[in-house]
Amino acid sequence: MKCLLCGINEATRSNTHYLTDSIIRSALNVDGKNIRDTGLFWQFSTQKAGARFGFQQATNIAKLEEVLGRQPTDEEIAHAVAETAFSVDNHFCPSCEVHFGEIERPFIETTLPKFRGADLTGISEIGVEDVRISRAFFLLQVLRSALCDKAFNVSSGVLDDLKYLILNFQDADVTQFTKYPLLVTYLQTTGGQTAYTENQVGFVVYDIHRIILMNDFVVQFFEKEPDVVLADFNDLYDLSDFEHFLNIHEEIFLFKIFSNKQRQSFLFSGFKEFLDILVVYFREKYVSRFKQEPSRRIIGHFLATLSDQSLDMPLGIRYGDERLEVVANTILDRVARETAKYRFWRR
Ligand SMILES: [Zn+2]
Repeated sequence: MKCLLCGINEATRSNTHYLTDSIIRSALNVDGKNIRDTGLFWQFSTQKAGARFGFQQATNIAKLEEVLGRQPTDEEIAHAVAETAFSVDNHFCPSCEVHFGEIERPFIETTLPKFRGADLTGISEIGVEDVRISRAFFLLQVLRSALCDKAFNVSSGVLDDLKYLILNFQDADVTQFTKYPLLVTYLQTTGGQTAYTENQVGFVVYDIHRIILMNDFVVQFFEKEPDVVLADFNDLYDLSDFEHFLNIHEEIFLFKIFSNKQRQSFLFSGFKEFLDILVVYFREKYVSRFKQEPSRRIIGHFLATLSDQSLDMPLGIRYGDERLEVVANTILDRVARETAKYRFWRR
């Protein structure tokens, strides 16, 4: 396969992170002590039904099973998922991978320290003068996500233009970058490394909205200016500040800053709606397999297994598609076995 960026070289690189690894790593760090007993959960409210969430790159559980010679535990799955999360094999060539580094490195070295680890108490915005690097960095995330993850799509004309801009990020006129409306919020994450595992990594795509959650940065991308509309998304922006923080034809790239408290209310509002979504998910699987309603007890068991705090894992993995499927299937299989046994003895 040819490289998806240059289209010239063979795409021989493996383990390319399409969301910059050093940004997302601490959110996925399963070795770090995870939060316990906080009862805080990630959610999306029900009115965003139809939204597509891309929280996890599929991990090959069958392969993991083969390597281990037995069924992987929840913890092993979480580790495997965290290690391969948001990375792809054979999508890009070594030369484009080097090129990515040329965009990522200056952002990580000069821009990131203004945010991560800095004391931002009382600060609600930060302007960065190096528009080119900020733009190239975030548009790179948009482009790679669109190329690598089907949950995140952009139209083909925009995709081609973004490829051109990323390949020519040093020479392209900066106005070519700033024509794309872009919003970036930085989530102040205080309380040590463990607090980062509360943050999310993934995509939220609905209506015209394209949002990338990359740990302490939340990025919203629009393909063109007329598309720009306020997203109803956990008060990330409101009418009073939305236009102010919208980067378009800007000379200074503006970041909105959330305090640690705002970060938590952004991440953890609407737990009830989130539970409802989980219950609907499980119920549908149960009904389609057994042609009858699950008992409240078995639903409770599903929820309790998911949220088992003795397992350390980031919330995005804990409630990721993949884990939901594994936990639900394990319970359904057991119900099937027990029912079969019961029938046998009754004969
Ligand atoms: Zn290439």
